[in-house]
Amino acid sequence: MENQLFYELGDSLYVNVTNRCTNCCTFCIRDHSGVGGYDLWLAQEPTLEDMIQELDAVNLNQYQEIVFCGYGEPLMRLDEVVALAAEMKNRVNIKVRVNTNGHANLIFGCDVTPQLRGIDTLSISLNARDEAQYDEICRPSLEGAYEAVKEFARLSKKHVKQVVLSVVDTIISEEDIAKCQEIAAEIGVPLRVRHYED
Ligand code: SF4
Repeated sequence: MENQLFYELGDSLYVNVTNRCTNCCTFCIRDHSGVGGYDLWLAQEPTLEDMIQELDAVNLNQYQEIVFCGYGEPLMRLDEVVALAAEMKNRVNIKVRVNTNGHANLIFGCDVTPQLRGIDTLSISLNARDEAQYDEICRPSLEGAYEAVKEFARLSKKHVKQVVLSVVDTIISEEDIAKCQEIAAEIGVPLRVRHYED
């Protein structure tokens, strides 16, 4: 097991910038297992300078995609994610995805989506058909999180090429997933049904 910022899964390089999160999802893998044999608990959050220094040892050419994801919500560190993504894109021609809980505008108290225009794909966890279900499954620490997630998806569409909402298949029923499909369609983005193992 290694404690690290970067980890590799398939053809992608994953980036684990924080262990902080404004959700406490019942299904969060942080509480159950590691990811691909990696220990993603960080002894301390790396600074942007640390990250760029570690990046020097990475051959970005061998990956199809960069994914900001890990044991926490990447956009808790919005500035660092944006800066590191830009640095990576300066070095190679590569797509960058951010997997997010969609709380960034609530966290920062303003619309931060224009800052995400350098990101190719934003995968936003919807996770539930309504606020009551969201609160039960995701146990957010912020008020109004469910509506904020949907609004974040709407606003992100103006700046990010590909915005996707996601749900986890074993957590909610088929009927709930169908309702989430309707919500995604109304926002104008695709819904990705993730398998729990993903
Ligand atoms: S949003 Fe992601 S990191 Fe945060 S608690 Fe839920 S599953 Fe875990």
